[in-house]
Amino acid sequence: MNITRSIYLDNNATTALAPAALDAMLPYLSTEYANPSSASEAGASVKKVLGEARVAVGRLLGASPAELIFTSGATEGNHTAILGALSMIKGRRHLITSQVEHPSVLLMCQHLERLGIEVSYLPVDAEGRLDLADLRAALRPDTALVSLMWANNETGVLFPIVEAAAMAHDAGAFFHTDATQALGKLPVNAAASGVDFLSCSAHKIHGPKGVGALFVRKGIALPPLFHGHQERGRRGGTENVPGIIGFAAAARLLTNIEHEARYLQGLRDHFEQGLLAFMPCARIHGQDAERLPNTSNIGFIALDSEELLYRLEQEGITAAAGAACAAGGQEPSHVLTAMGFSKTAVLSSLRFSFGRLNRSEDVERVLRVLPGILLGMMDMPPMTAAGAAISCAH
Ligand code: PMP
Repeated sequence: MNITRSIYLDNNATTALAPAALDAMLPYLSTEYANPSSASEAGASVKKVLGEARVAVGRLLGASPAELIFTSGATEGNHTAILGALSMIKGRRHLITSQVEHPSVLLMCQHLERLGIEVSYLPVDAEGRLDLADLRAALRPDTALVSLMWANNETGVLFPIVEAAAMAHDAGAFFHTDATQALGKLPVNAAASGVDFLSCSAHKIHGPKGVGALFVRKGIALPPLFHGHQERGRRGGTENVPGIIGFAAAARLLTNIEHEARYLQGLRDHFEQGLLAFMPCARIHGQDAERLPNTSNIGFIALDSEELLYRLEQEGITAAAGAACAAGGQEPSHVLTAMGFSKTAVLSSLRFSFGRLNRSEDVERVLRVLPGILLGMMDMPPMTAAGAAISCAH
């Protein structure tokens, strides 16, 4: 029997449900099943708890409760913001986004292009950074919305959201950010950032899947995607009560984001330093950019990432080749491709994303098994001298 603890380093794909979130949800999956829209006493009691959940999530996001719409996740938030903004400013038929957004944004933009909307996809440099001059140049009198992610899910690279939002506003456009990966890893304050819309998802912060929130700045009457009376007419459909309660419980656990970020960064830096010590030619994508504290996207110089992923899995270690949504497919990551890497370089990259449940011992174990795996893949004998480095001149 393999009693080695499995090591989960794919926290950007999803996180383990926090026990406190599960506990908070359980009554709403069993006895507390009343519909919050029902006039009954039980309905009123659920409605009250939903109100408290809205306050808790709003606190985490830097939003007032009235500025939050609960959604089924970030995909829905992204779609609501994009479609809503387009239908709000009549005559504006142009969108701006980046080449490295999550597929939920990119595929919606491609869909809209087929319907006659023009979309500009901003490039990034080799570190995954966005140049605000490119945004300035792309803005047009008919730009309805600029949608840029706060942090990239594959590399962790951050975009200058505050500056970009101000630029969009100067051009009379709305600004939306997909903050799914930033939430819980960095201080995120929707109101202070100046954005109009911000989407996020509970399952990236140890909450349940299938629930998220969309921040809509006070005073903006964003048209709904789903029409109905719930969420003050801004999102129809009976609320996912257990999900929202679980989301709020997960949000309440994030009392000290700076502390959380420091912890994650400690693990990430330990991993990267250890890796570079035995494989100096490994490439840390986005290393020179501002990036999330927990994300390490590594180029393993021409080694097949799928095989590496498999060999790590055999050791009980879970990482990711590209994003979860693209994994399994043979398509090379659009993010690393946009950063200018060759197909070979992209297909030899792995993402390690650390989380609250990881321990320093996890990193140590990964650093112990990785050299052997890499040497095995290179058909080289195991390292003999301690501290010997893996050469990439193979
Ligand atoms: N945006 C980003 C940046 C993400 O990482 C994800 C999740 N992979 C999503 C959107 C989609 O979130 P959800 O699963 O809640 O729809």
